[in-house]
Amino acid sequence: MVYSRCIDGKWERPVVTEDFNIPLNSFAGVFHYAPACFEGLKAFRGADGRIRLFRPDMNSKRMADSAAYLDMPSPSEEMFIDMCITCVKENLDYLPPYEASSASLYLRPALFGINPQLGIHSASDVMFVVMCSPVGTYSGAKSLCPGTAVLSRNYDRASAHGSGCYKLGANYAQSLHAYNIAHKAGYRELLFLDSATKTTIEEFGSSNFFGIKHGCYVTPNSPSVLPSITNKSLRKIAEEFGLKVERRTIFIDELETFEEVNSCGTAVVITPISRIDDKITLESGTITREYKYADECGPVSRKLYNRMVNIQKGIEDDPYGWCMFVNDPK
Ligand SMILES: *Cc1c(COP(=O)(O)O)cnc(C)c1O
Repeated sequence: MVYSRCIDGKWERPVVTEDFNIPLNSFAGVFHYAPACFEGLKAFRGADGRIRLFRPDMNSKRMADSAAYLDMPSPSEEMFIDMCITCVKENLDYLPPYEASSASLYLRPALFGINPQLGIHSASDVMFVVMCSPVGTYSGAKSLCPGTAVLSRNYDRASAHGSGCYKLGANYAQSLHAYNIAHKAGYRELLFLDSATKTTIEEFGSSNFFGIKHGCYVTPNSPSVLPSITNKSLRKIAEEFGLKVERRTIFIDELETFEEVNSCGTAVVITPISRIDDKITLESGTITREYKYADECGPVSRKLYNRMVNIQKGIEDDPYGWCMFVNDPK
């Protein structure tokens, strides 16, 4: 991993280490008030032997937004990307080969408050860490494998004017309990509703929602949804394929009308959803309303997925300049 600390407003020179244990003061804010945010992005080995990072500038900007919300320092875009590149170069042995169709090296940048504090205030000193792990399957067999979801009637991920649009560990702390209940009940995904009215679709616990109907790509535009880079990229690709893109309020009832429903995010790009259950509690008991979709990835979603993955692996052209090269051509 690669890390750097910002002490008294000055960033130290980044350190590369194989030791994942970092000494921290027990009074460090991160252990108490959660001044912490993170990012997730992937490095791919391309068809041409070059290693690509997918839109790291977007991750850098989003981390800066998260840190600004927490009123704490954040690395510059240059520093963020340099440390990501260093992390990839130091871990080349763990970067899956091009032939491993859906495998890649997942990078996890994290930023957290380290100065000792008891008083309630934002972190003045922070640590920025970039670590990584190989992810995905070598055969690609599990990619685009559909899962079921349940609407979260009893728990919210983010409040109407809260931190939902920032990538904070605290948002996850807040949703873990609800997630555990959903997983125990056999669901892969938990679909959150807007916390104020519980009538509109927000997003899944760690990925965005989009649906396809009548040649249209529809995704919520709520301010408490995390702005997913995958979703943003898929919207661009959807336009390439001549789909209309709509970012708007999606009421629960509209679930019935979608031809394809997916969750999207860096980890799996797209996960098709085969069924969404809505468990409604009435005085007489609980009834389940089911929204059913195909048991396999829909044709439109599959096209979007393939185009996205082919850009990421350098198989197809990258007209938007989304990929950043880590090494020179061989
Ligand atoms: C990270 C994240 C996503 C996906 O964002 P990507 O940039 O596409 O990886 C979606 N929702 C939540 C809550 C997230 O934390």
